[in-house]
Amino acid sequence: MSVEKTLVLLKPCTVQRALIGEVISRFEKKGLRIVGLKFMQLDDAILTEHYAHLAERPFFPGLKESMMVTPVVALALEGIDAIEVVRQMAGATNGRKAQPGTIRGDYSMSGQQNIVHASDGPESAEVELRRFFREGEIFDWVNPLHRSLYATDEC
Ligand code: UDP
Ligand code: MG
Repeated sequence: MSVEKTLVLLKPCTVQRALIGEVISRFEKKGLRIVGLKFMQLDDAILTEHYAHLAERPFFPGLKESMMVTPVVALALEGIDAIEVVRQMAGATNGRKAQPGTIRGDYSMSGQQNIVHASDGPESAEVELRRFFREGEIFDWVNPLHRSLYATDEC
């Protein structure tokens, strides 16, 4: 149990479908603290780096293309075990297979247009937060509701 930060991207499909507010709201209501938030136009270079693990896959060019159609919303979220919590909230990669109640399960019918990216572990979270947020763009603001979100022995 440790306080973690994780990266979420709201993909262009989410921007186009006017789901930005709804998806951000789910993270807020869960009790995750938004510590970074911005609109960004991605380019081929950053996407080639971000999706390097998929470079050999046939859908790689189409995936990058789909991520450049509109700006994306980059979110840095913080909370206890936030990386795993956010992955669980996102659900399985393919929206058709994702459980109802997850973000992809509730809003996506696609294996590619699947609403969010979420870091998949502590190493990728660290690298990805640095990839999408500059120094000074992540804020450590005080949440007065902290005691309602966590037990004393959890903080
Ligand atoms: N993707 C795709 N076709 C596939 C698998 C993945 O277009 O068959 C896209 C999809 O948008 C996914 C992204 O590639 O979110 C990154 O894939 P990854 O395996 O890292 O899944 P994720 O971590 O997003 O669940
Ligand atoms: Mg991934």
